[in-house]
Amino acid sequence: MTTQSEGRMDLIIAGGMVIDGTGKRAEQMDVAISGDRIVAVGDLGDRSAQRRIDAVGRVVAPGFIDVHTHDDAALIETPDMAMKISQGVTTVVVGNCGFSTAPFDTDRVPDFRLEPIIRGDGLMEQRLGDYMARVEAARPAVNAAFLTGHSTLRYDAMGLDVEREATVAEIDRMQRRLGEALDDGAIGMSSGLYYPPAARATTAEVCRVAEPLGDTGGIYTAHMRDEGDDILAAMDEAFLIGRHAGAPVVISHHKCNGRTNFGRTAETLPKFREAMKKQRISLDVYPYIAGSTILLPHMIAKAERVMVTGSKPHPECAGRDLDAIARDWNCTETEAVARLQPAAAIYFSMSEDDLREILRFEHAMIGSDGLPGDPHPHPRLWGTFPRVLGHYVRDLGLIPLEHAVHRMTGLSAGNFGLADRGHVKAGYFADITIFDPETIGDRATFDAPLNPSAGIAHVFVNGQESFSGGTVGSTRRGRVLRRGQ
Ligand SMILES: [Zn+2]
Repeated sequence: MTTQSEGRMDLIIAGGMVIDGTGKRAEQMDVAISGDRIVAVGDLGDRSAQRRIDAVGRVVAPGFIDVHTHDDAALIETPDMAMKISQGVTTVVVGNCGFSTAPFDTDRVPDFRLEPIIRGDGLMEQRLGDYMARVEAARPAVNAAFLTGHSTLRYDAMGLDVEREATVAEIDRMQRRLGEALDDGAIGMSSGLYYPPAARATTAEVCRVAEPLGDTGGIYTAHMRDEGDDILAAMDEAFLIGRHAGAPVVISHHKCNGRTNFGRTAETLPKFREAMKKQRISLDVYPYIAGSTILLPHMIAKAERVMVTGSKPHPECAGRDLDAIARDWNCTETEAVARLQPAAAIYFSMSEDDLREILRFEHAMIGSDGLPGDPHPHPRLWGTFPRVLGHYVRDLGLIPLEHAVHRMTGLSAGNFGLADRGHVKAGYFADITIFDPETIGDRATFDAPLNPSAGIAHVFVNGQESFSGGTVGSTRRGRVLRRGQ
């Protein structure tokens, strides 16, 4: 037994199969919590506690860490975070793909195209520290760590005139503003060189902007310039930026996009392995063969099917296929895309075989990449973690349960520098998810994307029960996780 405190215990979770987040085999043990910490793990016999939960037949795991989210606004707008806590998620990393709510010169006009990802209506802040304070005031149910988006830095420095190379003065400003955000507690910088606001950024620009990461222990996460035909060159670019800045690299939502690229995980995964010998690199993945992002005309050709998930001028189109909308409107799909803006969509554009290869890759973390602002979102927003544990682990036997949990918890906390989280271990924060391994599973579908998952019994965040019996608790104890804390 490992025990840190012999004093009074608030809670004992008794007799569950503890999966500690390291990848180690499950073991039947008790877990004790006092205040916001785990205080003992082992055979606690008949030690007394204020409350006891019988967890026999259930798995007791660290709370899941969703390393890839766009929950920046949701933390404030829907602080119960039901779509995450109902999956067993206790921490989200926000500010991905180059888009964060701060730091942004709030005298400038936000880019309306990005509304599905970053809503500009009064949410953007000059300083990340100000945004963090607003999140703390909203008291979200889950913890949140913040990345600073390179595209947001571009808007801050260049206004809406972003579809060009930045000047030296603008690059200097971006670098200084990133430094401020890191001082405020950002855990790193994300970029989205694929998207119009950063597509014209040169590799040299991103290298220069990213320099403060190396001095501060920040990480660099990349929605790469290309996830299709030129994916290998895009990987090299992201690795180079990480090396230049002296920062660990996370490749976001790894995929091989478009039918002509099906099967190319046979190239990308060995390339990851090779590069990992020379620098710190990791990656995340979501368990679906469809992606989702803003509605962009050039993405349509690559997809087998496009489903609109939301449109500001045409909310009635949410959940409908683009080709059907174009038929109804008697116009081309390209014209329909223009009329739907700002809008977001689901793109069916990947192969199941590649997805399984990535899920099997031992370095791949799990991240949902859901867009909570969509009225008819991709089902990954509500289903990612239970889908991995139910469909891929239990039903298909793709990887052992303990490995899957590791890639949602301990591995993620290590790669993102989240101290004292990601493990069931005495002294660690009491972020704990208790689930039934026989029934856990996703119920959100492309047609009914808001269905909560099955099999999550209890979720604790910083020692507070935050989800139980299908209901989100009213006491919310999520915290802002500042770098270095
Ligand atoms: Zn992305």
